[in-house]
Amino acid sequence: MIKRVCVKCQVEFKPEKNGIYVAEMMMKNTKVYKLWTADLLKCPVCGFLIVASFSQKAAEHFEMDLEEKIKELIEKGATIIYDKEYPYTTALELNNVIQER
Ligand SMILES: [Zn+2]
Repeated sequence: MIKRVCVKCQVEFKPEKNGIYVAEMMMKNTKVYKLWTADLLKCPVCGFLIVASFSQKAAEHFEMDLEEKIKELIEKGATIIYDKEYPYTTALELNNVIQER
């Protein structure tokens, strides 16, 4: 059994939403490498969120319609979390990445 405990609050994380998607990014966050299914967990005290329980690959970067598949999932109300290649440090940097697309 895998348990996840919030270090700050010392209580176990609880399921917030099962069956979310995680888009693993590459190429300075400009392309999706893999799409995974996973669960969103929340600390019941402080509200800290984590992604855990990666269960299966939903898609790979070499599949022709990956970007289209993500758009469809968003339209259907799916929760998609991005696992970035590196974190954005400023809003300006994020803007530059979006404009390069
Ligand atoms: Zn907590």
